[in-house]
Amino acid sequence: MANPSLLILAGDGIGPEVMDEVKRVISWFGDKRDLAFDVSEDLVGGAAYDAHGVPLHDDTMAKAQAVDAVLLGAVGGPKYDDLDFSVKPERGLLRLRKEMDLFANLRPAQCFDALADFSSLKKDIVAGLDIMIVRELTSGVYFGEPRGIHMEDNMRVGVNTQRYTEAEIERAARAAFELARKRSNKLCSMEKANVMESGILWRDVVNEVHQADYADVELSHMYADNGAMQLVRAPKQFDVILTDNLFGDILSDCAAMLTGSLGMLPSASLGLPMANGRPKAMYEPVHGSAPDITGQAKANPIACILSFAMALRYSFDEGAEADRLEAAIEKVLADGARTADLMGPEGGTPLSTTQMGDVILEALEALL
Ligand code: NAD
Repeated sequence: MANPSLLILAGDGIGPEVMDEVKRVISWFGDKRDLAFDVSEDLVGGAAYDAHGVPLHDDTMAKAQAVDAVLLGAVGGPKYDDLDFSVKPERGLLRLRKEMDLFANLRPAQCFDALADFSSLKKDIVAGLDIMIVRELTSGVYFGEPRGIHMEDNMRVGVNTQRYTEAEIERAARAAFELARKRSNKLCSMEKANVMESGILWRDVVNEVHQADYADVELSHMYADNGAMQLVRAPKQFDVILTDNLFGDILSDCAAMLTGSLGMLPSASLGLPMANGRPKAMYEPVHGSAPDITGQAKANPIACILSFAMALRYSFDEGAEADRLEAAIEKVLADGARTADLMGPEGGTPLSTTQMGDVILEALEALL
């Protein structure tokens, strides 16, 4: 059988720096776990604009559609700030999400015990936290029509439209229920059914999907504003949270900050199953291209490496290998390995990006 295929789009800024460490991890799994991937690489974002005048070349888009999963680093940087909106680096990312129809965005918020002091919340509230937010990514108010700014009675009026079809809600709900089954079988759906018709429909469809196919999953509903409050009051009450594009944008950033550093946060964006049964998928760290530390060997590669762990789990059904990689990261953090972004007030000498990669590979070896 052919090896599973991965397209690496390292992008801009620290993207290539953190991706170098992911490539070493991928090679390790090929060498030591008999889990080889066919890896190809291409350009996205500013790097693609420099080479082709567009943030994503059509050939790259075609490659992304053909592989089993895409691993993305980060895009953007001050060099590209003045470009026309249509060719900004972020447009490359949006095109990938849109054309691959990646409608379910999975963002885990996991607090490694060794880093519980980094949270802005009290340690006992976040220690051991492990929740997953499923955000609908391709519809809702960011895409709904009509939209725009127009004149009415000599005044400017800004309009955006929150619009969801039941099919869009249903497929996001199914993704979340499936995920809940792989975790602790508990799902909380968040919307504003008290004030929005789209929220009423959202709740109805989630209930219908639940009754039809997922009655074994414990389902609850919460208004999204209360959800935001509960996330900072008692986040451990949640396991999987399902929500729409707008509320998901805000709630997932809120949940992310419970865990400390941006350098630790992975994500997955999944679409419908392909002919081989694997979902269309793109995995990427939550952080951006960090121009302030680019080229200084300071970037924390863990968010990007954890994104590869998500690929192992959700694209390749290698949950045990994903556990192995996460355990190696947990071990190095428990042993005190820190990049600059994870340094506490006690100080010390931070590891470089490559040194963090080194200790993670050593921990993987030790776990064999
Ligand atoms: P950012 O995430 O790049 O950086 C925010 C802060 O976090 C910076 O101080 C940075 O040094 C730090 N940081 C981020 N990742 C880190 C890591 N792995 N290790 C250590 N420190 C890390 O966000 P920003 O500064 O607002 O944006 C910079 C550029 O990235 C902009 O062009 C923005 O548009 C782009 N961006 C891209 C993505 C993406 O590619 N998905 C996401 C967010 C921002």
